[in-house]
Amino acid sequence: MDLNTITEIRRPADSGAIKEWKKGYAWLAGGTWLFSEPQSDTHMLIDLESLNWPALKRSENGLEIAATCKVVELDQLVEKAPAEWLAAPLLRECCRSFLASFKIWNEATVGGNICMSLPAGPMISLTAALEGVCTLWPRNGKPREVAVVDFVTGNHSNVLAPGELLRSIHLPATALEKTYAFRRFTLTHLGRSEVLMIGTKSRGKPKVLLTITAATVRPVQLSFNGIPSADELKRVIDDGVPFSLYLDDVHGSPVHRKNLTYYFAEQIRRELSA
Ligand SMILES: Cc1cc2nc3c(=O)[nH]c(=O)nc-3n(C[C@H](O)[C@H](O)[C@H](O)COP(=O)(O)OP(=O)(O)OC[C@H]3O[C@@H](n4cnc5c(N)ncnc54)[C@H](O)[C@@H]3O)c2cc1C
Repeated sequence: MDLNTITEIRRPADSGAIKEWKKGYAWLAGGTWLFSEPQSDTHMLIDLESLNWPALKRSENGLEIAATCKVVELDQLVEKAPAEWLAAPLLRECCRSFLASFKIWNEATVGGNICMSLPAGPMISLTAALEGVCTLWPRNGKPREVAVVDFVTGNHSNVLAPGELLRSIHLPATALEKTYAFRRFTLTHLGRSEVLMIGTKSRGKPKVLLTITAATVRPVQLSFNGIPSADELKRVIDDGVPFSLYLDDVHGSPVHRKNLTYYFAEQIRRELSA
């Protein structure tokens, strides 16, 4: 839609050119959310595309994803991923977990999805499950790092200070080399995720991580030293996910989300033990 409150668009070559952050400014990434509803409090858009950050950088330490990397670019990486990245197909599973039209999928960025901080943000599910760490650039201060799982603090809220920029997300090689199990439920075909859960297991050391997203207002990550028993799994979910954390919206009730969380957690437990 046309945003008729916007009076200025800037396309800086360097984010440092934006020295002062004022009310009414917004970073523009893919624009799929920004242009989907009126932005009456915003009068200036600062386009991140002109920063020309390389979308994806592979190294022996893992993968650095620029915030401006498009979801479609991450999806295409799967075909080129090294064989030891056993979790590479998870990139595609999550890239295809949007309530997404063709346009959203091709324009939305990984960083834009994380900064939106919606419970059903599949880039949050992916990067939290793969132990991602965000690099944040405050307007006036040194860069800081925050684990993705701690970045999102609630439904559409996160740790970003005004004007602070998400620069990139680093996925460690050790996480990319893990085996995984993925479960997702949507009420409608191609609908918004009601529950999206990912379990990962390291080779050698039997540590298991269970990441619960979409069911809850923010990501919840539960850690186990080995494959838990069914009872232990249920108990740890009970302790780690109070009922108030389950999301209530048109895509599912808290009770349904809670039941699916137990149901999928048990399926993931069995799949990872196989
Ligand atoms: C039909 C439709 C379906 C959708 N389905 C889903 C869905 O299933 N799940 C979901 O989570 N969302 C969904 N969305 C919402 C939105 O499109 C996505 O979250 C998308 O990933 C946002 O990315 P973007 O690059 O387009 O962000 P933009 O719209 O450009 O920006 C989103 C917000 O993040 C801020 N921002 C962007 N990048 C940065 C950065 N690097 N640093 C700091 N702030 C930044 C912007 O200022 C803005 O406030 C949907 C939207 C539509 C219209």
